[in-house]
Amino acid sequence: MIRKLAIILGDQLNEDASIWQGLDPAQDVIWMAELIEESTHVPSHKQRIVLFLSAMRHFAQAKRDQAWSVDYQTLGEHPFSHFEQALSAFLAAHPVQTVELVVPGDFRVLQQIKTACRAANVPLNLLPDTHFIAEPGEFKAWLAERKKPTMEYWYRALRQRTGILMDGKKPLGGKWNYDADNRQAFGKDGPQSVPVPVRFEPDEITQTVIKQVAETFAKHPGELENFDWPVTRQQALQALDDFIAHRLEKFGDYQDAMWPNQAWLYHSLVSAAMNLKLLNPREVIAAAEQAYHQGRAPLNAVEGFIRQILGWREYVRGLYWSYMPDWLDWNALDAQQNLPAFYWTGDTDMACLKDAIGQVIQHGYGHHIQRLMVTGLFALLWQAKPEQVHQWYLAMYVDAVEWVELPNVLGMSQFADGGLMASKPYIASGQYINKMSGYCQNCRYKPKEATGHQACPFTTLYWGFIERHQDVFRGHPRLGMQVKHLERMPDEKRNQIQKQMAHLRQKLG
Ligand SMILES: Cc1cc2nc3c(=O)[nH]c(=O)nc-3n(C[C@H](O)[C@H](O)[C@H](O)COP(=O)(O)OP(=O)(O)OC[C@H]3O[C@@H](n4cnc5c(N)ncnc54)[C@H](O)[C@@H]3O)c2cc1C
Ligand code: SF4
Repeated sequence: MIRKLAIILGDQLNEDASIWQGLDPAQDVIWMAELIEESTHVPSHKQRIVLFLSAMRHFAQAKRDQAWSVDYQTLGEHPFSHFEQALSAFLAAHPVQTVELVVPGDFRVLQQIKTACRAANVPLNLLPDTHFIAEPGEFKAWLAERKKPTMEYWYRALRQRTGILMDGKKPLGGKWNYDADNRQAFGKDGPQSVPVPVRFEPDEITQTVIKQVAETFAKHPGELENFDWPVTRQQALQALDDFIAHRLEKFGDYQDAMWPNQAWLYHSLVSAAMNLKLLNPREVIAAAEQAYHQGRAPLNAVEGFIRQILGWREYVRGLYWSYMPDWLDWNALDAQQNLPAFYWTGDTDMACLKDAIGQVIQHGYGHHIQRLMVTGLFALLWQAKPEQVHQWYLAMYVDAVEWVELPNVLGMSQFADGGLMASKPYIASGQYINKMSGYCQNCRYKPKEATGHQACPFTTLYWGFIERHQDVFRGHPRLGMQVKHLERMPDEKRNQIQKQMAHLRQKLG
């Protein structure tokens, strides 16, 4: 009889998780499974699959080396497609007293595991996820006291409770937020000598996985040649050190800037390692805070970086678990277009989208402003169905796990939640992209133009979007100005925009 069967999922690779405290290698068994559905329920990028499988295999090996008994279901060596099947088969073949699991990052997986345990009549002990800084129940209690869950106030509440970036009861430096200092563009010469991030050559385990993924998922999007993500805790710590030493200093200044063929700029590239839990957010935050106190990085960079993790990351997780599964049905703007096919191939003549999508295909990575203001913005203006946009983001980025991807896509980027997260849709014309990047310099379109053969599709669609939603946005303090602007346009111009939209829909739809 197995006393406890401890399920460890691919994004639960932290040795300090609550589950380990109550386990005993002499009586308990670790259960890990590679299941095809995890890579196919949305057609996962090949690098995303390699990352998860390689990190899981490294973790399982380390546990075996520590004398744990690990039941590991390797892809291709078992007949099961999903968790419910694989766990049901294990529970049918082995007597188990209790199944233990840390709350997973995906509602779907939780439902499957619950169903398998219920069917086998084995109790499931769900443990809190102590990886996160918010205490269990803290977000729900905070949410219950608010009409609108504004991220900034959640972030301040967590800073006050944890003392992170605080000077007694006051925020360090006197301000809570240095966002206004964090919006620089590179100027027309572009970024100069950006430090190249440390890379990790695939070892034997990773090479085996790469080969298997290339064969099993040959038709999936993404390239494998450049795989260099950290797959062990040691590598993840090295990636963090590299960022703190070489890129954090300028992270704040250029947080929102974009440049062609510059995938990484001054970003940290630690999201995937954190989401697999190879890194703990507390240690990432502590490393940045220490760099500030040692004079190695300015406050605007350190506060801006910490806000992403302590603020946004914890906030979207709270929202995910507060509103699932309702999130999946929301479509506040009644967006009904299909996502254009070029999202999966990068085959477009729009320079910004070609670069941002091409980079995702090559590396499974895009930084925040590319995700929000290039790929996300175009999908929003195109009025793509939120469900399809969600599936694309969940499939294409190596760091995609549903609890973090879904609120960012459906809430922040697509406004499908009708304003739960953001006070207005993040819309802009091609002129925003022109201001923040070097993309438009070499594009066949002109960001200022909404009509004509050089009209930037973003700009055309921007005015089409305002036209369609003018009744909703008329009373909004900021978008109302744009409605007035549209109303002042001559009818002829408005008709031309509609014709240009129809042309675009025909060309790209
Ligand atoms: C449409 C859209 C989809 C996204 N999908 C994902 C996703 O699937 N997985 C994911 O981890 N992040 C997602 N993000 C958030 C963010 O874009 C990525 O975390 C970030 O780009 C990862 O790169 P980095 O590690 O270099 O981040 P940095 O720019 O260096 O930021 C530091 C860290 O802050 C955290 N962070 C930053 N912004 C956010 C945010 N909005 N929400 C939560 N955490 C944040 C991440 O952990 C990140 O590693 C998405 C954002 C948008 C707009
Ligand atoms: S002109 Fe428009 S399509 Fe071309 S790069 Fe600029 S924003 Fe993108």
